[in-house]
Amino acid sequence: MSKDYLEFDTLAVRAGHVRSNEMEHAEAIFPTSSFVFKDAAEAAARFAGDEEGNIYSRMTNPTVRYFQERLAALEGGESCVATSSGMSAILATVLGLLQAGDHIICSNSVFGTTTVLFQKYVRKFGVEVSFVKLSDLADWERAVQPNTRLFFAETPSNPLTELVDIRMLADLAHRHNSLLAIDNCFCTPALQRPLEFGADLVIHSATKYLDGQGRALGGAVVGDKCHVGEAVFGVLRSAGMTMSPFNAWIFLKGLETLSLRMRAHCSHALALANWLAQHSMIEQVYHPGLSTHPQYELVQRQQSDCGGIVSFVVKGGQEKAWQVIDSTTLLSITANLGDAKTTITHPATTTHCRLTVEQREQTGIVDGLIRVSVGLEDVRDIRADLVKGLGAS
Ligand SMILES: *Cc1c(COP(=O)(O)O)cnc(C)c1O
Repeated sequence: MSKDYLEFDTLAVRAGHVRSNEMEHAEAIFPTSSFVFKDAAEAAARFAGDEEGNIYSRMTNPTVRYFQERLAALEGGESCVATSSGMSAILATVLGLLQAGDHIICSNSVFGTTTVLFQKYVRKFGVEVSFVKLSDLADWERAVQPNTRLFFAETPSNPLTELVDIRMLADLAHRHNSLLAIDNCFCTPALQRPLEFGADLVIHSATKYLDGQGRALGGAVVGDKCHVGEAVFGVLRSAGMTMSPFNAWIFLKGLETLSLRMRAHCSHALALANWLAQHSMIEQVYHPGLSTHPQYELVQRQQSDCGGIVSFVVKGGQEKAWQVIDSTTLLSITANLGDAKTTITHPATTTHCRLTVEQREQTGIVDGLIRVSVGLEDVRDIRADLVKGLGAS
């Protein structure tokens, strides 16, 4: 039986790489700012866009291109533009696709810095922003205005793992002449491919699971040629929030093990969530793999696995939460996530400290809440580290 396409795990290892004349096996890093033309006519043709090829690493670099093509293949998108960070991927999307007078609808449970970028900086340039409840499609619809052009969401959300039905949100956005962007940082294409459900743009912080080992900052936007390959790419060409070739190489190597790592993150997280759910010190556990998750049916339909984030509320509020965190000796007290090393965070006093007490209570970021990004260590050791503060049962 002949096959005319490659499977996900094969693309993760093979897609995008074009060998140089040196016939290197592993992807090469090209640390060069510019590229040499064979003559003046070739230079002119490249600058005019009449001929494809390298010009200058602000917009064209072979190592960065390998990464872009590999990630585009994994997300099932036509074009990918790699950026210097996840935040600059979001900024480049806004700069490339919106103009003064336009309106964005954003879920109120996105990454904190995304909220600040929209509220404080994007608004300065005359783009309006409304915030709505992620899972409530009626709330999204009520926020629509004649000038709405972009819907922006993260699913599942951080830290409470709430989902939105991507297909229904895409249909709603398209009925109102808007694009849907999904920040796919938490699932990665190994677990969820938003473009298949009708989203127009996928945003990544490559800093998290795509690297997977906490080494480098990077981001990406994936979508069709017109919106991403031309509009968002044009922003990078002029504004320069470009990914470095060295970082692109790190992320390329990260993608090769993405599936394997995500499988381990998911199985460790589910084991931890099941243990926490029956623990007497725990009031509530948030994890998409628990059958008690309020959107369990949607999780099954939209994601191929449950993800590596587990959040839980301990009895005893902030004092007990801090004691559990401070009793750990193996886990890392840090806000990063998606790392081989398990990280533990107290959202109310770190990632969500800018919310008022009322906002935190409304959105479930209570004082007893702890978020764990479950890593690749043996899960028995992760559990034993939490037992120091929680007790055994
Ligand atoms: C970390 C993160 C970002 C920002 O990415 P950086 O690479 O840190 O700029 C955006 N979205 C989500 C969901 C994140 O977790």
